[in-house]
Amino acid sequence: MPISPWPSICTSGTNSRVAERIVVIGGGVMGSALAYWLGRLAPAAAVTVVERDPSYEFASSALSAASIRQQFSTAVNIRISQASIEFLRRAADELALGDERPDILLREHGYLYLAQPAGAAALVRAHALQKAQHADVALMDVAALARNFSWLNTADLSLGSLGLSGEGWFDGYALLSAFARKARAQGARYVKAEVTGLRVENGGVTRINLADGTQLACTHVVNAAGPWARRIAAMAGVELPVFARRRTVYVIACPVPMTPFPLVVDPSGFWIRPEGARFIAGFAPTDEPEEAPLQPDYGAFESQLWPLLAHRIPAFEAARLERAWAGYFEMNEFDQNGIIGAHSTVRNMLFMNGFSGHGMQQAPVVGRAVAELIVHGRFDTLGLSELSFARIEANRPLLEENVIG
Ligand SMILES: Cc1cc2nc3c(=O)[nH]c(=O)nc-3n(C[C@H](O)[C@H](O)[C@H](O)COP(=O)(O)OP(=O)(O)OC[C@H]3O[C@@H](n4cnc5c(N)ncnc54)[C@H](O)[C@@H]3O)c2cc1C
Repeated sequence: MPISPWPSICTSGTNSRVAERIVVIGGGVMGSALAYWLGRLAPAAAVTVVERDPSYEFASSALSAASIRQQFSTAVNIRISQASIEFLRRAADELALGDERPDILLREHGYLYLAQPAGAAALVRAHALQKAQHADVALMDVAALARNFSWLNTADLSLGSLGLSGEGWFDGYALLSAFARKARAQGARYVKAEVTGLRVENGGVTRINLADGTQLACTHVVNAAGPWARRIAAMAGVELPVFARRRTVYVIACPVPMTPFPLVVDPSGFWIRPEGARFIAGFAPTDEPEEAPLQPDYGAFESQLWPLLAHRIPAFEAARLERAWAGYFEMNEFDQNGIIGAHSTVRNMLFMNGFSGHGMQQAPVVGRAVAELIVHGRFDTLGLSELSFARIEANRPLLEENVIG
């Protein structure tokens, strides 16, 4: 049975009927990945992406740490990342325009999760789940950690888990740009405008109001508004548990060479990885108000992050904070997982929201999944119904324990 009861656009093998009226709200990595996949799956569809700020100054996709891992605590997230890394490895071919092949600078240097005695059982549990999904991960005892990462203070550790392949980082802005450029070349129309309202009639959105007074008719509308998705949902009377939570990324110089250096996730909650000749790091602050101004929290570096860093990696005693930036996590405070597909009361409005810090890596696969829902009325390549809105409506959380920073 189709996941969205609203008519898909290719029910009888043709996509000409209503294809001209798919409107995507938000042209970040999610909206642009979707526009790209719609162009692939339904080339005759005319897709409109409404983006209020083509400079993406505050968009999460432009402010992301853009890292990808297989080490999740839910199987569906592992499966998404496995499919995503395959796409990222092929991105230069998939998103090429003639001879121009985008370089997203994918580096597969792994994630290293560290555990103290209290956290070791959870790491072993997650490892078993990851292995069952055929993730390329290995547990390391303290001796192995010390042998492989001589720069690490292992004194208070009991276990580590290292991704051997399929994990690392890339240039998120380059991925967003490549999706958007290819989507445009395939026929998607990007409109600079702000969505201010939605008209809902007979259980579906029929009109999208823009700030300049223009109205767009639609047969399908997609909420790809990232940290601002709750406001768009509210315009259609839907309550979406997604909140904009500020995260600061610190750029740090350290004079001591340390290799190999994967993305490290410390038991205290901070993360750090190399970025060119420097490092970037962050952690999850407590009590952040919703939509705090996007000024970096410089004070927290001295008072909170630096002591933890210097404890785990003693070479960071000599480190220097060079600069910092801040962006919003689009936190799904119901269960820290993405929300994909339609809500039962507004049947032609699809959501791709709430990725809680793992949306950049999931965008290639989520974009394809939402395009499949619109074009075919079902997930074709990877079943993602666990992430549907129905779990929220039924109050059945699918908790992701491995949320970073
Ligand atoms: C500091 C930081 C680090 C991160 N690190 C990682 C990581 O390592 N790995 C990972 O996978 N993910 C990471 N993420 C998360 C990831 O970046 C996001 O999940 C992803 O970028 C979300 O993409 P999006 O397109 O949904 O949102 P966005 O990129 O925010 O795009 C939404 C767009 O919607 C537009 N919009 C909103 N409202 C309206 C409106 N009313 N009208 C018109 N346009 C509108 C906005 O202008 C914006 O451009 C990180 C995020 C941050 C902030």
